[in-house]
Amino acid sequence: MSTEAADVVLYNANVLTMNRRRPRAEVVAAKDGKIVRVGTNNDCDLFKGRSKLINCERKTVIPGFNDAHIHILAYASSLLSIDCSPSSVSSISDIQEKIRQQVQRTPRRTWIKCTGYNEFYLAEHRHPNRHDLDRAAPYHPVRLSQRSLHACVLNSPGLSLAGISIETPDPPGGLIDREPETGEPSGLLFGMNSYLNERVIPPLSEKELRQGIKLVNRSLLSSGITSVQDATVRNGFDQWQKLLCLKERGELAPRISMMFGLHALDDLTERGFYYGYGDNSLSLGAVKFALDETSGRLNPSQKELNEGVLRAHQAGFQVAIHAVEENTVEAAAAALEHCLRLNPRADHRHRLEHCSVCPPPLLRRLKAIKAVVVTQPAFIYYSGERYLSDVSDTQLPWLYQARSFLKSGLKSAASSDCPVVPCNPLVGVYAAVTRRAENGQALSPKEAISPEEALRMYTLGGAYASFEERLKGSIEVGKLADLVVLNADPTAVSPEELKEIRVEKTIIGGEVVWER
Ligand SMILES: [Zn+2]
Repeated sequence: MSTEAADVVLYNANVLTMNRRRPRAEVVAAKDGKIVRVGTNNDCDLFKGRSKLINCERKTVIPGFNDAHIHILAYASSLLSIDCSPSSVSSISDIQEKIRQQVQRTPRRTWIKCTGYNEFYLAEHRHPNRHDLDRAAPYHPVRLSQRSLHACVLNSPGLSLAGISIETPDPPGGLIDREPETGEPSGLLFGMNSYLNERVIPPLSEKELRQGIKLVNRSLLSSGITSVQDATVRNGFDQWQKLLCLKERGELAPRISMMFGLHALDDLTERGFYYGYGDNSLSLGAVKFALDETSGRLNPSQKELNEGVLRAHQAGFQVAIHAVEENTVEAAAAALEHCLRLNPRADHRHRLEHCSVCPPPLLRRLKAIKAVVVTQPAFIYYSGERYLSDVSDTQLPWLYQARSFLKSGLKSAASSDCPVVPCNPLVGVYAAVTRRAENGQALSPKEAISPEEALRMYTLGGAYASFEERLKGSIEVGKLADLVVLNADPTAVSPEELKEIRVEKTIIGGEVVWER
């Protein structure tokens, strides 16, 4: 028997390939970054003496996870911020204590950034306000972001640096919460995070960025994430350059597809960029639109959205529309229908990000136009308790569906929307399978899917959403050798154990980039 050379051979593995023609295997061999063989332990002899052999001891190997919607730079900044998530604080006084400690180490007038609070899990069951924060930090500007990043709280020095006073009108798409007695801003702001990031909060310094990215890289790799799709609407040429630089320095190992905002379309196309520009390591993705109704009406308006979507589509780009509420999902569907009526394109794969509330008639419309839905199963786990209390009974059955999407044939991908929730895909798989919130309550259990189906959404689903299913998403000869070794088989453990599964090794392009 002739021998073959490979750079690395995983053998004695329980390989879940996500390839329907050959769902299981024992051996995966990679050469020059690509998979060259998927087979049984007998194939191992082919490579003996000429390759690095890794005995997986029957552990499970799956394709690397693809997080189809994430915010890399925001994640870096959140990892450098004070963690106020439910796992580390349980009351407003806990938050105050954390801020007080930070005040000791921070020069006056320097921003103190805190993130991750969830008012639902605070003992006081309310949003903190500027007075709460002033008590902990009277002289430092403080920004405390809510977990969803949709709301944040500034203290009085923060409000004054932001130029937000009793006279300030609500900015487009934003809402300044006001104290009922005085009309003064309470400190709580909705839909104003990007406004603050652009005009008020200084960006991360070079040193902070590198520090934050180091943490991001470690977090992604230890979660088995080998590809991410950055869905930040502020992205443009500058962010591309930043990511490129991080990639070139080898500081950010996962492959990245970078979406960007419509504001950057002309600039990027004039510079010669096009959809998919770049390489396997960093490429240009969809034009991202953020659509909301925070201020009580659609922002942007239906007309503006229609025009923007059409412009991006005609420039040859895929579009990705952030739409959470039923009205915004409806408006996104209308914009896509309008665009495809005027300018049909067969394989557009235009995406709806979140598509959180999608009743059957709307789902049929999305199916008819072949939209792709990028959903966040882990929201069920981290925010399920809030949904059960805040979402109406009529909408609950259509919230963060998965079974209905699969049944209808709608293409869907899974993602974390990190830093909104932690990026661990196995928590997402757990939530998609059990439909359980952190406190154990179940959320429309009829929408549950199998572990295999959930893994598919986190691998092949993501690859399809960025037109890369020929390159990644399953373990097949010719695809990129992006692999993850798990300590247990998600298709064999009890549902409760899914979220406890640990990543043992993460491999990108045939190279072990992380090991427990
Ligand atoms: Zn997002």
